[in-house]
Amino acid sequence: MALMWLVVVGLLPGSGRLSPAAEKLVTEYVVLVTIDGLRNEELFGGADPKLVNDPKRSGVEDQARLKKQYWRETAQARREALLPFFWGTLAKQGVVLGNRELKSFVDVSNPHHFSYPGYAEILTGQPQEAIKSNKAVHSPHETVLEYVRRKLKLPAEKVAAVCSWSVFNQITSKVDGSIFCNAGFEAIPAKYLTPGMRSANAAQFKLTTPWDTVRHDWVTLSIANEYLKSQQPKLFYVALAETDDWGHERRYDRVLQAANFFDESLRTLWTTLQASPRYRGKTSLVILTDHGRGHTVDNWISHTSKIQGSAEIWIAVIGPDTPNRGETKSMGSYTQSQVAATILRFYGLDHREFNPDCAEPISEAFR
Ligand SMILES: [Zn+2]
Repeated sequence: MALMWLVVVGLLPGSGRLSPAAEKLVTEYVVLVTIDGLRNEELFGGADPKLVNDPKRSGVEDQARLKKQYWRETAQARREALLPFFWGTLAKQGVVLGNRELKSFVDVSNPHHFSYPGYAEILTGQPQEAIKSNKAVHSPHETVLEYVRRKLKLPAEKVAAVCSWSVFNQITSKVDGSIFCNAGFEAIPAKYLTPGMRSANAAQFKLTTPWDTVRHDWVTLSIANEYLKSQQPKLFYVALAETDDWGHERRYDRVLQAANFFDESLRTLWTTLQASPRYRGKTSLVILTDHGRGHTVDNWISHTSKIQGSAEIWIAVIGPDTPNRGETKSMGSYTQSQVAATILRFYGLDHREFNPDCAEPISEAFR
């Protein structure tokens, strides 16, 4: 009935677009997934020929093995080899923005082009001037995670973030403890520890990484997937990180391995969502990266305001309220500032009340 009414109203001449408040969407849950510093090159083109064929500057240790895994003749086949679930299943059920070759543009708005300024922009709807470094300080503005929890009057554990990088303990909230966050090398509190989490929770302290603040994405995903099943959050954020760190280490083989694990993570989370009557058909996924990185064989390892490519990103929105268009071939330009308002629109919440300077929702993400 409600749907009929909306269709009729929508058809009235001069009725204009329905206000977000009047809109009836199917989405009841949102899962936000970020993957740190995964370039457009890899998302849209798979293994980069420049890097695969230059082991000296890409740091690839076993070129033959890497080629067997991820090298194919066309960019389309390469991206499907690297990200088979993303391109084979998810992309068809939503929109993927940012393929610059198709004149689809997504950029960061903050002037820094590295992680915390990017995540602050994503989670607050605008660049945050106070965030100029990756220092572990709390968000200067309420985050979209905190706002959804407050507006929907949810207990803290119903809005949750499970993240590989420790600084997310500060990035995801203005007020410590206002949402559930487990990030970096951090044990899950006994209250939330399920039998399925036990091995990953313990392994994180034994199978360490080269970085003190970043645990393996496998640990994050394993804990996240169990948390999703056991706590059934209303809004869930999973932040993976290894792609960026292996990039800085100049190990392109490991970057591709981490990108492929990101794809596997999406498959795992999606399978959990589809197996649950609570989530199935009522959950939207928002997936993006926080910044780009250099385009060349010399600067691909890094990303700064001076390195071209560092501001170039991509966003995918998948779910029941999003047109099944896959990759968009439009002249549209978007920014990561629009992610917060997009999430809020799924819940029927007003992004201007959240933050008067919040960027608008991504129009292409809605039918
Ligand atoms: Zn980085």
